[in-house]
Amino acid sequence: MEDCLFCKIVAGEIPATVVHRTDATLAFRDIAPKAPVHVLVIPTAHHVDAVALARADPALAAQVLAVAAEVAEAEGLTVDGYRIIFNSGRYGGQEVPHVHAHVVGGAPLGPMIAG
Ligand code: 5GP
Ligand code: ZN
Repeated sequence: MEDCLFCKIVAGEIPATVVHRTDATLAFRDIAPKAPVHVLVIPTAHHVDAVALARADPALAAQVLAVAAEVAEAEGLTVDGYRIIFNSGRYGGQEVPHVHAHVVGGAPLGPMIAG
């Protein structure tokens, strides 16, 4: 999709530190990490948010979660735990309208929703 930041990363037009890649997914480090480990997992196909992806292509949604689990394992997060976050829409704080799972961990993450 034109003018989508994450589609441009998929196309290689914008650089990213890729940590995992499949035919249908890409995982790369967040440019402004909020925790010691902060990786974004996306489907290479453009879908706006998690619900749009799950409705349009449930198998692909499952692949995104499976990759999130693989990234957590590879980053050493599974012993102490971690968080997978899908923001959606304005109130959800979604800045990039191409669905992405935030995989965050490596330190205590605090309350789920800040004060
Ligand atoms: P959202 O707020 O949409 O859930 O998350 C968007 C995330 O994308 C943010 O955590 C932000 O730091 C990250 N981000 C924004 N621009 C870039 C970029 O150009 N490269 C990478 N790797 N991450 C980005
Ligand atoms: Zn996109």
